[in-house]
Amino acid sequence: MIPGYTRIAEVNLTDRRVSVRDVDEKFAYDFVGGRGWTAKTLFDVPKHVGAFDPDNPLIAATGPLTLPSNPPFGSKMMFAAISPATGSYGDSNVGGHFGLRLRKAGFDALVIRGVNEKPSYLFVSDGDVDICDAGKIWGKGSRSVDEILRSLHGHDFSVASIGPAGERTVKFACINIDWDREKTRHGQAGRTGLGAVMGSKKLKAIVVGGNKDVAIADPDRLREISKGAGRFLVEKPTTPMKTWLREGTMMTFDWSDTMEALPTRNFQKSSFESAESINADAMQSNVIALRGCPNCTIPCEHVSKSRELGEEVHAAVEYENAALLGSNLGLDNFEELVRANYLCDDLGIDTISCGVVIGFVMEAFERGLISVSELGFEPRFGDAGSVYRLIRMIAERQALGDKMAEGVKTLATSVGRQSDRFAMHVKGLEISGYDHRAAPAMALSYATCDIGAHHNRSWAITYDVKGDRYSYGDDKVDHVIYLQHLRPIFDMLGVCRFQWVEMGLDPTLYAEAYSAIVGKEFSLQDLLWRSERVWNLTRTIRVMRKGVGIEDDMLPERDFADAVPEGSTKGARLDKNSFRDMLERYYSKRGWTSDGMPSKAKLMELGLEEASSALYG
Ligand code: SF4
Repeated sequence: MIPGYTRIAEVNLTDRRVSVRDVDEKFAYDFVGGRGWTAKTLFDVPKHVGAFDPDNPLIAATGPLTLPSNPPFGSKMMFAAISPATGSYGDSNVGGHFGLRLRKAGFDALVIRGVNEKPSYLFVSDGDVDICDAGKIWGKGSRSVDEILRSLHGHDFSVASIGPAGERTVKFACINIDWDREKTRHGQAGRTGLGAVMGSKKLKAIVVGGNKDVAIADPDRLREISKGAGRFLVEKPTTPMKTWLREGTMMTFDWSDTMEALPTRNFQKSSFESAESINADAMQSNVIALRGCPNCTIPCEHVSKSRELGEEVHAAVEYENAALLGSNLGLDNFEELVRANYLCDDLGIDTISCGVVIGFVMEAFERGLISVSELGFEPRFGDAGSVYRLIRMIAERQALGDKMAEGVKTLATSVGRQSDRFAMHVKGLEISGYDHRAAPAMALSYATCDIGAHHNRSWAITYDVKGDRYSYGDDKVDHVIYLQHLRPIFDMLGVCRFQWVEMGLDPTLYAEAYSAIVGKEFSLQDLLWRSERVWNLTRTIRVMRKGVGIEDDMLPERDFADAVPEGSTKGARLDKNSFRDMLERYYSKRGWTSDGMPSKAKLMELGLEEASSALYG
């Protein structure tokens, strides 16, 4: 085995075969790990294989920096598959102990194909993979599943599980990680419907843990880099540590509201009149614990309580949850928000997509496009009871919930009457928490994101508001491309991006840490080049599966047709011609064709001969 890497387990659930191989040197260095590996593995999946086909691999991939002791970079990993939401490459990043314990179990990655005959779960420990009966936990919420499996296997194991929504292949079902709040950070691989892929395989959970070590080429050098990075976070963080520890990502909520970028009532408005009821200050009186991922010195998860409906439940409200389940649905009570968040987690639903789908239903109802008879009640913005009922209807695929479970794009098609103009998605993935009508760089980020509209690939809105907010300039295109190359590095290495994006940690440190681990020198530039390869590979997957054309990168009609109704950005909306021109400049700067396909020359320049053959023969 080469330093920094261990083994990959390939599991076939249909014939219950498990094969294990050492990580191949070329695969390791060419694609680094995490998102690089998931991109390459899914590129190799034949294009006729759909999300729910047995041959669609569900991949759990760590990175070389996902190490038992590697402060202060945190610990992250990727889940990935062909997405049921977009029909193309899908992934989702998650923290907590799971990735680290997968490495302790002796594996860098699991690649799971096939379908169980009966509901099962995987037990992965000390180099072995067992397929176990999940009959007794099928149908249960993720919280109970976590408790049951930990009581069976011990609290030194981590559990990734799906809820009833995943079992019913809700197309935005998530995978829950580590619900054992007493000890660790809870998290979700929320986006792109990977819980539904897991459900389609009748795979309820994956339990990982063990005592295996990862060989590191130069532990002394790694220790020094870690120490230096730790010192920086104590002495020179760009966000005051006190604010971060108090608020975490919720510190963005007031900023987003003030900047008029906060999705409100299905993205009709961009600021919320009751923002102070669900912001970071409102969170303080409900917080019961601060949790962090392993190896993190800047913990950000604020576990909060709700006593709504006489039942105490807990959830960690992050900015995205507060934006999409809160202001986007008009909820003005923090405990209601916590309960909605908890229901999504336990039932196994992505909070972002869920908030967009419910927001669409509420607006469609107001416009007379959905009737009471389809739901059994009046779904109103601001009514928490409506939100709770709709979440359950989605998870159970009950009545209109069956169509809601298909995602907002398909739902709008079935509602018809031009409701697609306010169905907020790109490529079938619901838009995350930033109104971008007065932020063209953020709009470009959403439009060109390789998994559909997700903010974390290039969080460019801060660039929009710093300069000429309404500009479609080349500098914004360059900035989006820069972020789209820098950010995958964290996902490939298996670490958190907040130490860089929020605290200002120098990205070159990550390249140095990688070099120390593998015993070969990699500069930041070397990693950025690999990022660009990954970006072109996932774009190639999209083109192979969905064809090519600028329309595939277009935003919902609301962004162009409905102006921001009030505030300092009143009247703002995107100009379609300017945005098309921006997209075309983006393609050109990337070395893509005028309709957005990676050019043969670009693919060859990046050493992606297989991708070139796939597109050009
Ligand atoms: Fe995990 Fe938050 Fe720390 Fe990142 S900053 S590693 S998400 S606890």
